[in-house]
Amino acid sequence: MELERKLELFRKKAKEAGLKVTPQRIAIYRELASRSDHPSAEELFESLKDKIEGISLTTVYRTLSSLEKAGLVVRVPTLKDKVHYDAKLEPHSHFVCVKCGAIYDIDIPLKQPSAKLSEEGFEVLNCTLLCYGTCRNCSSTVTNGQK
Ligand SMILES: [Zn+2]
Ligand SMILES: [Zn+2]
Repeated sequence: MELERKLELFRKKAKEAGLKVTPQRIAIYRELASRSDHPSAEELFESLKDKIEGISLTTVYRTLSSLEKAGLVVRVPTLKDKVHYDAKLEPHSHFVCVKCGAIYDIDIPLKQPSAKLSEEGFEVLNCTLLCYGTCRNCSSTVTNGQK
């Protein structure tokens, strides 16, 4: 149901942005919106290639880039060059695991930096944080190995 709502909003916003809502674009967006692991274009292509006939990695790249321009998806900043995408548009921060590369959503209010910047005369529209380290899965493996 949540996904259906997202798709409905997607169609509406795409129209407003003058973006043609093609079945392929919907399929790519649907795949991204149904996942919370912030996939890269390559990862999306991997899971879509058997579902959509004739889809290519180039199509996925191009689609994501036009969706990004239209403000329908956002890029997730990571430590590596690879671009990861997020269909969650509300401002939020991320945790990147340096071992397995997993990207998690984190929900930490960033009022303090915003307040400090405002004091210094900056007008803050949004603040996001990129944390990195080892995720639960990876750090538990390390601990177990040491014992
Ligand atoms: Zn990890
Ligand atoms: Zn996210």
